[in-house]
Amino acid sequence: MDLNKRKEIEGMPLEKLKTFFIKYSIEKYRAEQVFNWIHNHLVFDFDEMKNIPKDLRIKLNEIFNLISLKKELGQDSLQTKTRKFLFTTSDDKKIESVIIPDKERNTLCLSTQVGCPLDCKFCATGLMGYKRNLSAAEIVDQYLLTAKHYGKEFITNIVYMGMGEPLLNFENTIESLRVFTCELNKVLSRNRITVSTSGIPQRIIDLADSKIKVKLALSLHSTYDEIRNTIMPINKKYPLGENIKAIKYYAQQTKTRITFEYTMLQGINDRKEDIKGLVRLCSLVPSKINIIPFNSIAHMSPDGISAKLIPTDKKRIYEFAQELRDKNLTVMIRDTQGDDIAAACGQLAIRN
Ligand code: SAH
Ligand code: SF4
Repeated sequence: MDLNKRKEIEGMPLEKLKTFFIKYSIEKYRAEQVFNWIHNHLVFDFDEMKNIPKDLRIKLNEIFNLISLKKELGQDSLQTKTRKFLFTTSDDKKIESVIIPDKERNTLCLSTQVGCPLDCKFCATGLMGYKRNLSAAEIVDQYLLTAKHYGKEFITNIVYMGMGEPLLNFENTIESLRVFTCELNKVLSRNRITVSTSGIPQRIIDLADSKIKVKLALSLHSTYDEIRNTIMPINKKYPLGENIKAIKYYAQQTKTRITFEYTMLQGINDRKEDIKGLVRLCSLVPSKINIIPFNSIAHMSPDGISAKLIPTDKKRIYEFAQELRDKNLTVMIRDTQGDDIAAACGQLAIRN
């Protein structure tokens, strides 16, 4: 068997794994055992799976590849406990994940693509362009390898907020979610997983219909199409109205609240009329607002409109949040974590 043609096993949801095992005449219950070793015990070598007989281990080694990413040296923030992990893919692309430890939770921020095709003007990943989708295994590997690094129970939350647009890599994102939310996966709980999207309406509906029931965050940044069009080109294709219909459906089907991510840009989305727009929008959809201080992308030497974007100052951010709270909206202000190592939101970019 050609080793390069082996299937990536860790990105397979249990049902798919069972189908594969049957295809290769391996008893179905073995799929559960192997899934358990990989995802609950973080064992990445078939030969260490003690309840699997030797001849089957040989067979598994022939059919499957286990762990396709290679973990490179991480980088720690000196200001916070944030740590950035760099991974190399088998075709020598580089991607990043970020661990954000906090008081009650430790969050892993995953990437779904090498780069991103959507070119949002405030985002370093957007500026680097798009290379390719990550496979489901490459998405899951980011979790497995960081979980192994820190110990099994360390990571409590996963956010799909690293490099790339998860809903443009829909199949693989769904498969990775099925792995993480599988009943047999004892380490993670499904209400601790959030998928963030810039807004692909049909895919939001498909995600709702998948019945996976994770939390959804919409990168909103403005409630006005004219403004969104200038900072997020994808809005021209999928304007807000369509996304609002889709997230309403999502909230109904999953009985969850939508999080609106709102990166504060001076003079662009921090004005009086932006408060009005948010109040109107939040009255339409069960939701909360997550305000993100804009992290500089100056290290990318941007040009055009990107070069002109300025963070809203701290005082205005707090004022803005208070004005929204006064209107009974739920608002959080996200800490800027790890901006000294370019690991904060929107700062992930590597020259591939
Ligand atoms: N592609 C998805 C997920 C990755 S981006 C999406 O756009 O939702 C994760 C979050 O970081 C998004 O809300 C994005 O808008 C935000 N973000 C991007 N660049 C940023 C920056 N420079 N400063 C602050 N937030 C940023
Ligand atoms: Fe892509 Fe999200 Fe960055 Fe936009 S904000 S370019 S969708 S990663």
